[in-house]
Amino acid sequence: MAPRVDPVQSDEVLPAQADVVVIGGGIIGTSTALFLAQKGISVVLCEKGHIAGEQSSRNWGWCRKMARDPREIPLIIESLRLWERMNETVEAETGFRTCGIMYLGETEAELAQLEAWLEHARQYQLDTRLIGGAEVAERLTGLTKKWAGALYTASDGKGEPQLAAPAIAAAARRHGAAILQHCAARGVETAAGRVAAVVTEKGRIACQSVVLAGGAWSRLFAGNLGVELPQLKVLGSVMRTEKVDGGPEISASGDLFGYRKRMDGGYTVSTLGVRTIDIVPDSFRLFFDYMPAVKLHWKKLRFRFGGKFAEEWRMKRKWALDEPTPFEVVRTLDPAADPRVLERSRASIARSFPMFQNVKIAETWGGMMDVMPDAIPVISAVDTVPGFFIATGFSGHGFGIGPGAGRLVADMVSGGPTIVDPTPFRLSRFTDGSNPRPHPLAS
Ligand SMILES: Cc1cc2nc3c(=O)[nH]c(=O)nc-3n(C[C@H](O)[C@H](O)[C@H](O)COP(=O)(O)OP(=O)(O)OC[C@H]3O[C@@H](n4cnc5c(N)ncnc54)[C@H](O)[C@@H]3O)c2cc1C
Repeated sequence: MAPRVDPVQSDEVLPAQADVVVIGGGIIGTSTALFLAQKGISVVLCEKGHIAGEQSSRNWGWCRKMARDPREIPLIIESLRLWERMNETVEAETGFRTCGIMYLGETEAELAQLEAWLEHARQYQLDTRLIGGAEVAERLTGLTKKWAGALYTASDGKGEPQLAAPAIAAAARRHGAAILQHCAARGVETAAGRVAAVVTEKGRIACQSVVLAGGAWSRLFAGNLGVELPQLKVLGSVMRTEKVDGGPEISASGDLFGYRKRMDGGYTVSTLGVRTIDIVPDSFRLFFDYMPAVKLHWKKLRFRFGGKFAEEWRMKRKWALDEPTPFEVVRTLDPAADPRVLERSRASIARSFPMFQNVKIAETWGGMMDVMPDAIPVISAVDTVPGFFIATGFSGHGFGIGPGAGRLVADMVSGGPTIVDPTPFRLSRFTDGSNPRPHPLAS
């Protein structure tokens, strides 16, 4: 079942030209469009389905600096600054609140692992600290299970995924961006060796730059342009509870659960890092790229072999721009939640918070995350196609960093100074011999 997303008004007329076309209306595409429009740059955003129909409305809503790959820390610091004034910026409710986030540790060994991340917190003067079991019990209302301690960042926050990207898109529109929904981008036309236009199912938009923020579809789109993006998809499963009285305000994860208190008084509940992976043709094509990540997370991955393999095998990987594309076939990627994962997380949260034992589950859904081999995004110009930029591969933690990433892309496209150094996110890291690897302490 797809979560209900705040609707956004569409523009009906396809502009003949724009400075920039953004492909994809998730948190990354909408934030990019907003910051470009704020700079006075003309921008058209094309979304094949509806704004935030895919990952950006299906995530937990955590906005955390804690336990990130150190390469992402400068950008997430900027992103949290943007979140803190987001309601004011977009003149609407995005659900952003500072609530604090905790990673619980059951044993001293688990705590020692969490503690290792403090080195990065210190480098950036973050307020992350290791707390003992007594403080955990005091801060997490309703907790009955004893924990050895936790890594805790009081300044981390949360947003409402079903409100945030739509509110940002509506604000971008007020600043002059055109928002086209039900409008798949089929491909990019080049002239004199650089971007000249985006061809959509509704017609052609001449432009100087294109930003591909297509989430789980970016690899397919880039591939048709001859750009190799080593991206895979993994399934996350989520449930929404009815209202719970007297539950914890701080978001936390431990054992097999992770949760966030929602604005409606219910909880979004899931399992940190437990992901379902369908074996598809790309699993073989990218096997060696993903070996380090699979070794690192082996215990938490659930592999499935089934209909997805044949489905993706049959999917067109090359097409001409005057023919329908896979983007027009699947308007919204709406995978079913994996019931085994949800059963385990429900049992796990109830062992720590008995109030979840009999709470009614109002909804469940799946979300297809787009991951990269080193679990950090690609936010990059593409050297072989001048004018083509990619912002994708947020690897299961792109909601919190989304506004920062959108701002960074807008800076890069407009050629101004960038809020942070984009070098760690360059596409060429996969081909320039850097041998990118996931950070062992990041999640
Ligand atoms: C279950 C789950 C839990 C998560 N929890 C968190 C969390 O707590 N905190 C966090 O920071 N992150 C979390 N994430 C990750 C986060 O949701 C994503 O990293 C982020 O939303 C990615 O945003 P995006 O804009 O890149 O992609 P998406 O939101 O997937 O948007 C991409 C859009 O592009 C459109 N599109 C694709 N191709 C085309 C085309 N050719 N033409 C037009 N449109 C196109 C798609 O329809 C889609 O709407 C979670 C993800 C999942 C699935």
